[in-house]
Parts: sequence; C-alpha cells; structure tokens
Amino acid sequence: MAIGEAERLKRLVFLGTGTSQGVPIIGCSCQVCRSDDPRDQRLRTSVMMESDATRLVVDTGPDFRMQMLREGVTKLDGVVYTHEHKDHLAGMDDVRPFNYMQKATMPLHASARVEEALRRDFHYAFEEGRHGGVPNVKILPIEDHGTVQVGQLSLEAVPVTHGKLPIHGFVAGDLAYITDASALPESTMARLQGVKVLILNALRPKPHYSHFNLEEALEVAAQVGAKQTWFTHLSHLMGTHSSRDAALPTGVNLAHDGLVLTREGERWVTSTSAWWNTKRS
Ligand SMILES: [Zn+2]
Ligand SMILES: [Zn+2]
Ligand SMILES: [Zn+2]
Repeated sequence: MAIGEAERLKRLVFLGTGTSQGVPIIGCSCQVCRSDDPRDQRLRTSVMMESDATRLVVDTGPDFRMQMLREGVTKLDGVVYTHEHKDHLAGMDDVRPFNYMQKATMPLHASARVEEALRRDFHYAFEEGRHGGVPNVKILPIEDHGTVQVGQLSLEAVPVTHGKLPIHGFVAGDLAYITDASALPESTMARLQGVKVLILNALRPKPHYSHFNLEEALEVAAQVGAKQTWFTHLSHLMGTHSSRDAALPTGVNLAHDGLVLTREGERWVTSTSAWWNTKRS
C-alpha cells in the first residue's frame, strides 16, 4: 500500500458500553448490578477502531487503562473525542505507556471545547518545561463534517446534540458511531442514510434531558434503517442484557463490552474479543 493511502475500517471493539457511572453502580443492589452475566458489567463508553495499519480509540474515559489492559493493546495511533464529559475524558493521563512504548507524541483529535477541557484538566501536560513523566500529546482540531485523519484511517465528524451541548459522532465508511446524543441535526441524519452499522446511545426506558431513551433511540434506528444497530451508553435501568436484548426488534441489539464487529468483504460479522473469550470459558 502506498504511503498516505486511506484504509477501510476493518474491526471495531466495544471497550465500554455503560453510562457515566458504569454498571454495576457503586452501592447498588438492583438485579442488573448484581447480575453475574458478564454482559451486565459495563465499563464507561468507548470503542476501538482498526484498519490494517491503524488503531484508534474514541474517548478515554475513567476506565481507559483497564480497557487497554484487558484487550491487550500495545499500540495506539490516536484518540478521537466525542465531547468533554468526564466519562469520556478522565483517563487521558494513561496514554503515557503508549508514549513510552512508541517513543512518540499521541495525537488527540478534539473540538475547541474538548481542547479547552483537556488543557484545564490535564494542565500539567501542556506547561512549559513539563517533565518527562506527563502525557506527551498534541491536539488536532475537529470540525463539523470535517475529516479526522488518524494514521491511514479517516473518519468524518458529524454534529450531534447532547442536551445543550454540541458534540461529535463519527462515520467511518459504512459504519457510524454516535454516543451521548439527545437529538441529531438534519445534516447528520442525512449522512447516516445508507450506513450498514449504526452504533447509537440508548440510556434507559424513561426520558432523559441529554440522552436518547430507548423509544427515541429505536425511532432513530428505524429512520436510519441500518442492517445492524447496536445500542451503547446503557444504564442499569435498561434491565438485564438478556431480557432487554431479547425484546428488541430484528437488527437492533444491545452492545456489550468485548463485542467485536469485523468486516468480511461488504458484510459486518459479530464476534467477541480475546479478553471476552477467556472470561466466558
Ligand atoms: Zn457519556
Ligand atoms: Zn443497579
Ligand atoms: Zn456526555
């Protein structure tokens, strides 16, 4: 392959599929939080996307370190941010092992508002004369409908509304990843037409001011009409994975941590990660 030639997205791993507190929630004794089905144990929402040459993660939440450890990730080419909430940002400090292993600066693709939050929350990484023990990062801008280039993979950043906050989702070829949405602008809905895989947030059955509830997410899923729709950013209020998943329409499913989507020709097939497989055996 020629240098600079774009590659197709080949594999996506769900690193985390839980809402901001994760599932189980500290101190909660509900049926979901006590479930011993590993699909009911959800780290904070993030995915890893891979082509042949490139691997990126979308967001670095508080569980980023554990997600990298459990999936055995030893190389990472960049981070792409949806927005600045702590459940999507808090783990950025843990890019340091990749700095050391790769002897390289980690590119962080971020909107202006996410950049402001990164510079505030991780100020020590941006100070003059910073010492070697802090994250070595550079921030690259994300614009609405702009291209985000990480290694050989390019994504399109699509505008998403999250309560009052304008944030981003990402489209990679025929797959779209949208989390923390409460509404999708027309331009984004238009862009989603024809995708084969839609990953979308669905918080819980009851309405919420800044997240799609189940009914709203199902409505968007129907409008987009992707072959596969996977719900993420799930609360314990969604019920157990097994009961809720069984009640969803054909082609719509709950994602779970360790779920893997792999491209085979023009099809996307479902499997589970090496970490998940050891957990299940
Ligand atoms: Zn979130
Ligand atoms: Zn609970
Ligand atoms: Zn959020």
